[in-house]
Amino acid sequence: MELVYEEYRPRRIVNVHKHVDGPWFWGRYTAHPYVGCRSGCEFCYERGGVYLGRRDPNQFDTRIRVKVNAAELLARELPRLERDIIACGDWQQPAESKYRLSRAMLEVVLDHSFPLFIIERSPLVTRDLDLLVEINRRSWVGVLFSMSGVDPALKRAFEPRSPGVKRRLEAMAQLASAGITTGAALMPVLPFVGDREEQLKETIHAISDSGGVCVLAGGLTMAGAQAQRTLETYRQLDPALEEKLRVMYRWAPGGKPGFGPPIRYNARLGLKVRELCDCFGLIDRMPRYVAPGPFAVNKRIAEKLFLETYELELQQASSHRIWAYRKAAWRVDELEEDIAELYAEQDVEGLEKIPGIGKKIAARIKTWLETV
Ligand code: SF4
Repeated sequence: MELVYEEYRPRRIVNVHKHVDGPWFWGRYTAHPYVGCRSGCEFCYERGGVYLGRRDPNQFDTRIRVKVNAAELLARELPRLERDIIACGDWQQPAESKYRLSRAMLEVVLDHSFPLFIIERSPLVTRDLDLLVEINRRSWVGVLFSMSGVDPALKRAFEPRSPGVKRRLEAMAQLASAGITTGAALMPVLPFVGDREEQLKETIHAISDSGGVCVLAGGLTMAGAQAQRTLETYRQLDPALEEKLRVMYRWAPGGKPGFGPPIRYNARLGLKVRELCDCFGLIDRMPRYVAPGPFAVNKRIAEKLFLETYELELQQASSHRIWAYRKAAWRVDELEEDIAELYAEQDVEGLEKIPGIGKKIAARIKTWLETV
């Protein structure tokens, strides 16, 4: 199908999230110059419905909407926002070679010294290495390359037009040599065809050899047209995989799939990735950048609370406990007073006065405050 660019001028570009997305990418804002993606990955969550509104998800890779005023909007909106991590740009498609909007947005991020996070499937991000190095010098840059593994056959089947994984790894090495925090998002790890231990090991080994410092793994999600296309790709690889996938996603013919794999699958995958990361000296979470300033301790304590939610998920703890830590993390992250001062003045009783923080979590925060 013919590739069409639809240029338009939206009124806003920055999405301000209610909470930081810990313990994953630690971003508070997102801003992307294109809607749709030429890479056309079958499993892409953006085909799943909510992201495209009323647009046809099957034209997600052939009709690309281009926000031609992206940099102009960003320059207007950033000065009004509290400085925090912004996930910005979009290099994973030919439109960027033509419009160079991601580069123009980086110039704005640099002008305002915002810390930057990028998640990419394309090595084209290294075209703007000069700007990334400068942003990193002034604040911070983290770049994760997303991939499902290093098997070229899987890449061909599920990501028909995305750049090759070897090129992503070469780009990772280039960024690492320039002092930029980089690693990989194994997203999605493909059940039955891409989640065997030796496959994960080969991929994590390659990431380590390319200067990556972290690997985050995420399971395959299923929704709407994306689920149908992903199922079809599995069928083409091996018709017997359909039944396995339907069982895993509680997906009866004619019905809707569950959104994610079972909790125990995610926990096993997370633990396996952690074990393999340990073997190669990597970590299984993205390091959090915290700017120096009056609330730096709050952010560090919130980080610990967020990381605890991940530990609890790996332990398959009750959702009640996980939510207690998640809410506590949000409260501390958004607290408008210095938690260290609060503790110094009122001891643990002061911590217990923070809404949503009970005795057990307050006691843990006390221990952390005594060591930060
Ligand atoms: S490269 Fe990323 S955004 Fe583009 S189709 Fe693939 S998964 Fe989606």
